[in-house]
Amino acid sequence: MSSEKVLVVEDEPKIASLLSDYLRSAGYQTESIGDGAEVIAAFDRFQPDLLLLDLMLPNRDGLEICRELRTRSSVPIIMVTARVDEIDRLLGLGVGADDYVCKPFAPREVVARVQAALRRVGWQHEPGQSAPVTVDECAMKASINGQPLDLTPVEFRLLRVFTGRPGRVFSRGQLMDHAYEDHRVVSDRTIDSHVKNLRQKLQAVSPGATLIQSVYGAGYRFDPTALTETPAE
Ligand code: CA
Repeated sequence: MSSEKVLVVEDEPKIASLLSDYLRSAGYQTESIGDGAEVIAAFDRFQPDLLLLDLMLPNRDGLEICRELRTRSSVPIIMVTARVDEIDRLLGLGVGADDYVCKPFAPREVVARVQAALRRVGWQHEPGQSAPVTVDECAMKASINGQPLDLTPVEFRLLRVFTGRPGRVFSRGQLMDHAYEDHRVVSDRTIDSHVKNLRQKLQAVSPGATLIQSVYGAGYRFDPTALTETPAE
């Protein structure tokens, strides 16, 4: 595959150059921008395959930039925040980032997240690939690699949300909104236990693949590429 392009939006020069170095050694082309007001123009010129976007920037914040980009692009955006509780707030605002990384981070971890996000895009657009996970809305039936899953209505709705946006992180509140059609309010623990049960049912038909992943401080994401990976990766 030809080298993919990552736009690094970061106003701290040391962090920006550290990230760029790691990304380049991993085979990506990079460009970095430190001024929030210049990001959209840089995005249009560079046409990145992925954006690493710091939340706090001079002149224009990452939140606003993410919102504007989402009105016209589905390029994966990984939001970089300084505090883990910011992630929860951003999820609540529905800014549409694909993933969240909290500072301080290990550059290797960020590279791994970039690779994972780009792999998910590839998975979604792979034309010959038959979907290993199918969700039949009308029949309320779901299967993995042709093996039917026996799900409760809540589990089915959770799976439908997850598979509708592979790779996207959902907060417990967002999952709650989708899982209960009567909009009842349940505790985070209730959501956790539904997700846990769904996870076990998925694992029973796809041993070794962690299809639903916990995202620290944020919630859960569904990663279909786990089906084609070795668990040791
Ligand atoms: Ca910053």
